[in-house]
Amino acid sequence: MNIESFFSESESPLIIAGPCSAESEDQMLQTACMLTKYPQIKYFRAGIWKPRSHPGQFEGAENMGLQWLQKVKKTTRIKTCVEVANRSHVRQALDADVDLFWIGARTTVNPFLVEEIAQAMKGCNMPIMIKNPVNPDIDLWIGAIERFYKHGITKIAAIHRGFSSFHKTKYRNESFWEIVFELHRKIPNLPIITDPSHLTGNSKLVAELSQKALDLESDGLMIEVHPCPKEALSDKKQQIDFDEFDKLMKSLRFRKKSENRDFISLSQLRTQIDEIDMEIVKLLSDRMKFVSDIGKIKRQNELTILQKDRWKEVVESRLAFGEQEGLDKDFLLKILHYVHEESLRIQSDIFDRKNDE
Ligand code: PEP
Ligand code: MN
Repeated sequence: MNIESFFSESESPLIIAGPCSAESEDQMLQTACMLTKYPQIKYFRAGIWKPRSHPGQFEGAENMGLQWLQKVKKTTRIKTCVEVANRSHVRQALDADVDLFWIGARTTVNPFLVEEIAQAMKGCNMPIMIKNPVNPDIDLWIGAIERFYKHGITKIAAIHRGFSSFHKTKYRNESFWEIVFELHRKIPNLPIITDPSHLTGNSKLVAELSQKALDLESDGLMIEVHPCPKEALSDKKQQIDFDEFDKLMKSLRFRKKSENRDFISLSQLRTQIDEIDMEIVKLLSDRMKFVSDIGKIKRQNELTILQKDRWKEVVESRLAFGEQEGLDKDFLLKILHYVHEESLRIQSDIFDRKNDE
């Protein structure tokens, strides 16, 4: 895909800030004026149509909100961006001279809506940011990107806002960075912006996640800020106030991306890592060959695939060795589980083949 960036190298990392929702003219202008103190802020965000879990909650200021947004642009000269979730939103936002659109996590999951929005944007040369779907499904995310691209929209970025999870975790949404890295591997020129507000769901954690994202080469941040978060009409817990925003902007460290400089020692160390990774792959392949031979013996002798005592001994001995070698126990345990799962799959295949014979 020939994705074009809608922001220049000098604007990177792209920082977008503003309230979760447009609530009043005063709230919008106060926030936007505060943001003018920070030249790094390139876009003002505000939700105009709000996708809420329950009916009866605040669902956005709609047309009034768009008028406040136009006023923000006129008085502060900061460009504006909004979430669009259908054809009518696209038309209204275009009429209000909005500069950038995004689609929300609940829209990315729905190919009908994505198609409708992409068609409505056809030929208007507008940039779009595509939030990850609520569920951790990279194909839905890539599929949404492809739908816009197919309609000739080439100024695209992705937004990582975390994925919902059944488990209670530190953050409102789970980060699953591996999905983000995989997206980058598959579409290398697609900018990926992080939304630490929706990801953490907690104003106290926005700063740490923002820095982490920048250190993982995020191409930008989208941050929710409100003059008085505890009175906000949506996402109270995650919006930061003006003081917190100031602290955040002063604390962020924009470290250099490694390809900008030639670190000789770094490339030597990476060569060693490359060799070790190849050795790991070769050792895993050798291990699976033995697993397969053992599977055949188990099948011939009518032995069960899983032998719990053996598995217990494998885990304990490897963890003890790992501790001696200074490896984190949880990390090693996850790897052992993965390897074991694959071993069981190989042996089950051997058993199934027997049943077919
Ligand atoms: C938002 O950005 O306010 C929003 C609704 O986000 P998400 O789609 O990530 O939940
Ligand atoms: Mn929000």
